[in-house]
Amino acid sequence: MTISGSWQRTARGAGLLSPDGRIASTIFAEMSALAQATGAINLGQGFPDEDGPAEVLEAARRAIADGINQYPPGLGMPVLRQAVATHQQRFYGLTVDADREVLITAGATEALAATILALVDEGDEVVTLEPFYDAYGGLIALARGVHRTVPLRLPGFLPDHDELRAAVTDRTKVILINNPHNPTGTVLPRETLELIVELAHEHDAVIVTDEVYEHLVFGVQHIPVATLPGARERTVTISSAGKTFSTTGWKIGWIVSTPELVTAVLAVKQFLTYVNGAPFQPAVAVGLGLPESYFRETAGTLQAKRDLLSQGLEKAGFDVTVPNGTYFVVADAAPLGYRDAATLCRELPALAGVVAVPISAFCSDEHAGEYASLVRFAFCKKVDVLERAAAQLARLGR
Ligand SMILES: *Cc1c(COP(=O)(O)O)cnc(C)c1O
Repeated sequence: MTISGSWQRTARGAGLLSPDGRIASTIFAEMSALAQATGAINLGQGFPDEDGPAEVLEAARRAIADGINQYPPGLGMPVLRQAVATHQQRFYGLTVDADREVLITAGATEALAATILALVDEGDEVVTLEPFYDAYGGLIALARGVHRTVPLRLPGFLPDHDELRAAVTDRTKVILINNPHNPTGTVLPRETLELIVELAHEHDAVIVTDEVYEHLVFGVQHIPVATLPGARERTVTISSAGKTFSTTGWKIGWIVSTPELVTAVLAVKQFLTYVNGAPFQPAVAVGLGLPESYFRETAGTLQAKRDLLSQGLEKAGFDVTVPNGTYFVVADAAPLGYRDAATLCRELPALAGVVAVPISAFCSDEHAGEYASLVRFAFCKKVDVLERAAAQLARLGR
């Protein structure tokens, strides 16, 4: 049977299908398979190898035992919506109406999908930073939008303000930022966020901000763009429990926005998953209510892991950009004689027993060349795993 239709054109455009009609395997799948096959340490995919807070895990077990196993309300369970609203007030001083301005989603991924599909029509432009989280390119293509990017370049991976001004025009429907930024670890400074708000006003664009790493910053302040003057009424803030509570498999996310934008996103979301994860929702509410010390210690522990892996990579001979946030560090393999990080990543299991991913996996075909020698390593792993990885990587320097 031949199944064909416009979805194939769309999927091919998004790089989801190869020209012969098979699902294109991503470099992530290829590298995870390589880690499996070789037994190498997998620093490719960004998931923690330790469990999150015991209270949160216990709350999910309790919820199942208590019979919270059927469809939750379309907007999400009131206890979690209230916890999200309280969290926004506690950490950012934002007063949020839990009944009209919060929507619980199947992870940040569904929040992104529903938001892009709700806001972007065929031909509308979406501006993102580049490199970008891989789902952004796919989702913009599924909405038949046009993807424009603003490069983050070395040193420092900060966007140039003139390039940002040039990228946003009256054709721009959405400015989609990711802050703190995966894969570079950049935490956007206030001046850049102010410019984004100014441009959104000037060109009547909506700001969509993916802040799943909001609590994973190292000695710098994370500024939610929604806290800036004039931002809130045109911003969709997206976050998720996965990274904050080391529960990436639970897929509980949320959006916080105006009642009008929440309604627009809900109109799409109800036909994607409708709802998800009933017993996990009250458990994430427990997590969001944990004391300040949990959030501080989680970031502190991760910062020490960042330093451990960064130092190992430097000793191995990479040029390392030490990140201010996220799970990831970017290392330049050019000093080691590798111009093509994809080639290095395919050889790395044999050379050093480690798997990583090339930054080109987060770039458009057009710009991948500018990032060719850069590699992303995840440091959200146990200390002894990172120590072993660092020792093995030191072989490269010899
Ligand atoms: C992990 C990640 C997501 C996906 O979050 P889920 O809650 O697992 O769907 C979205 N954006 C970025 C930048 C991420 O790193």
